[in-house]
Amino acid sequence: MNKSFDLFLTDELKKVEDRGIKRHLRTLQSPQGPKVMIDGKEYLNFCSNDYLGLANDKRLKDAAKECITKEGLGSGASRLVCGNLSAHVELEKSLAEFKGTESALVFNTGYMANVGIISALFDRQDMIFADKLNHASIVDGILLSQAKFKRYPHNDMGALEELLKTETGKKRVIITDSVFSMDGDLAPLDKIVELAKKYDCLVMIDEAHAFGIMGKNGKGLVEHFGVEKEIDIQMGTLSKAVGSFGAYVCGSSKLKTFLVNKARSFIYTTALPPSVAAASKMGIDIIRQDLALRQKLWDNTKMLHQELKRLGFNIMNTETPITPIFVGDAVEAIHFSKKLFEAGILISAIRPPTVPQNTSRLRLTVTAGHAKEDMMQLLSVLERIGKELCLIG
Ligand SMILES: *Cc1c(COP(=O)(O)O)cnc(C)c1O
Repeated sequence: MNKSFDLFLTDELKKVEDRGIKRHLRTLQSPQGPKVMIDGKEYLNFCSNDYLGLANDKRLKDAAKECITKEGLGSGASRLVCGNLSAHVELEKSLAEFKGTESALVFNTGYMANVGIISALFDRQDMIFADKLNHASIVDGILLSQAKFKRYPHNDMGALEELLKTETGKKRVIITDSVFSMDGDLAPLDKIVELAKKYDCLVMIDEAHAFGIMGKNGKGLVEHFGVEKEIDIQMGTLSKAVGSFGAYVCGSSKLKTFLVNKARSFIYTTALPPSVAAASKMGIDIIRQDLALRQKLWDNTKMLHQELKRLGFNIMNTETPITPIFVGDAVEAIHFSKKLFEAGILISAIRPPTVPQNTSRLRLTVTAGHAKEDMMQLLSVLERIGKELCLIG
């Protein structure tokens, strides 16, 4: 290897190692689920985004297999060349119908959707207002767009209004996660929509952690707040509650046509394997029909929140299955996570740069697939280790 390049890699890696925050890849020897195998040992898994337990659902797998038989594995080209197969079109129809929008467009990932949508729609002359805790893919989309942008303190509507009064742009847009991925709290979409109307501004939301679980029918936080008709650009993913892979943007037909023509992460990439689109469609069908699944998720969520509070843990402002356990120090959070791992429980520590300095935490996610016994075991281990680490009394 080139000597100075090798030295560069060694130095940079030593820096992360010295700070005690080096990241490692872990290999699952089982499918995604409430229990997983790692190095031949079984672990209780409380860190997936598979909220409804659909990632290993037989119905999704069968839909994918059937589609492979009918439409093959690879899509062979980008959607615009000759990779637009029936499964892609069916998925988009199903999404638009469920969300009650004129149209839907599927992207290969949520990351690609945000980067592509934001950079296609906004440029140097435009002004973007962004919540400080927005997902990294939104941040990258904004940087790529070269638009002017102002970040407001997390969910601070007063600060947002002040910015809306003074900051100008040809087009102006508020962009926010709907459910925040690391805190599990909600963006006040009712107030955001009100401000957007008052100050003539567009709204774009990212429903990655809300689609399939929030709202009476699982349509997302737009449904929870009853603002479905008032959000111009609704983005969400198919990789979390839906149990599959990919992302969508729902909105007007014109928006779709615009993005098909202008979003580079849509145009210059091979279409999703059709089987993945077919599995996503099945996931959405299940979400629409199986209300008990969502009920189970919320029962587990409420129980967990109640018990963690009772034990004295700081779970911040979560209102969703994403449950932070606040630690503060990054090294301590990693230590907590390691202790849990030794006790057979998988929960990841989240630290900078994913979250702000001194707000490191465990990020615990509960799913519809967790049984009562799983929850009881989790709570008893958390209580023991929480006391050992003096996080609770
Ligand atoms: C997971 C996530 C994404 C990225 O979605 P992928 O399909 O995993 O690329 C985007 N936004 C938010 C808020 C997310 O949590």
